[in-house]
Amino acid sequence: MDRTPFATKGAPVSEHSETSVLIVGAGPVGLTAALELRRRGIDVVVIDRLPTPAHYAKAVGIQPRTLEVWDAMGVVRPALDRSTPMHGQIVFVNGAEVMRLDLELPDDVPYRFTCMPQYATEHVLRRALAEHGTAVRRGVELTGYEQNTDGVIATLRDGDETTRLTARYLVGCDGAHSAVRKGLGVSFEGDAFPEEYMLADVELDWSLPSGYGVRAMTQEDGTTSDLMVCIPLPGDGRYRVSSFVAPDLATTAEAGAVTHGLEGKHPPTLGHIQAVVDRLAPEPTTARNMLWSSVFRISHRIAGSYGTERVFLAGDAAHIHPPTGAQGMNTGIQDATTSVGSSRSP
Ligand SMILES: Cc1cc2nc3c(=O)[nH]c(=O)nc-3n(C[C@H](O)[C@H](O)[C@H](O)COP(=O)(O)OP(=O)(O)OC[C@H]3O[C@@H](n4cnc5c(N)ncnc54)[C@H](O)[C@@H]3O)c2cc1C
Repeated sequence: MDRTPFATKGAPVSEHSETSVLIVGAGPVGLTAALELRRRGIDVVVIDRLPTPAHYAKAVGIQPRTLEVWDAMGVVRPALDRSTPMHGQIVFVNGAEVMRLDLELPDDVPYRFTCMPQYATEHVLRRALAEHGTAVRRGVELTGYEQNTDGVIATLRDGDETTRLTARYLVGCDGAHSAVRKGLGVSFEGDAFPEEYMLADVELDWSLPSGYGVRAMTQEDGTTSDLMVCIPLPGDGRYRVSSFVAPDLATTAEAGAVTHGLEGKHPPTLGHIQAVVDRLAPEPTTARNMLWSSVFRISHRIAGSYGTERVFLAGDAAHIHPPTGAQGMNTGIQDATTSVGSSRSP
């Protein structure tokens, strides 16, 4: 029985190979799925259309449960080495501290909340995968697939070449705009938030205690007109600072503007970030040593199904969340582990 929701026809095919599981996308979820399969001896091919790994810290907040999962997978030690603890959050409204929340957990919860930039998470997972003999095939894009009762035949673009790969299963970990999900014709209901934001990875020289997220806002009659959220990153005084987008960077009117995730083409300068810090930091503070920055948008959506027959979806391909609460990557990692088990590493 042929199911051909998303097939590329007619391209010259230079090679045809086989694997047990093709994983599309080498973000944190695809890498987790690959590692979970490899440590059980199952052969996988992992592809990503990006020629090099992304250097952004989209996901920073790591939930205690993710650390438990990483413990079972044998990667918790290198993960903790590259992270910093998250002790709590301090909230300022109109310059005055209004709340200090300590993130306490019962003693029998083995790990605490922690912060780790997404590029470091991906590095740890990629390294563990390499130790199982699997490297990500980079610069390779899934352009189509068809599935039948025996497997999935994927069409891949690798530079100028088109190749075919037959897999017993296909896992779409290809993010919010997932080609695998679109190929299945699965719905992705939800909505985009109208606001646009910007973020940057900088050092702040303020005297606030380390390990606390800082949320500072301007409010009048309960309405927030200005906002800065600083999440601690490993490194002395280093934070991911987010705020409403600066007016001169706004992309709202542009056709084809990104509806979820980083926009990349209009990076804020250190001057944009300093202006936010000047307006909202509770004490005079200088932002310096910016590593990267971007404009971004957020939305909330969920797929109508996690897959059909031999094709599965995981992570942002199946559900996208606003960053508040650190749900996106954490729940995505759990998709990839619960679907293939998470027993402790030998
Ligand atoms: C500003 C911001 C802050 C966030 N903060 C947090 C947080 O603190 N905690 C949290 O848990 N989550 C957070 N998130 C969400 C988190 O970043 C995502 O949930 C996470 O990246 C999802 O991982 P993924 O592997 O499913 O998809 P992605 O990270 O999007 O990876 C998908 C990969 O698939 C590749 N790809 C796409 N299409 C193809 C194709 N056709 N062929 C081959 N490769 C393809 C892409 O190149 C990409 O590398 C945040 C998101 C944003 C935007």
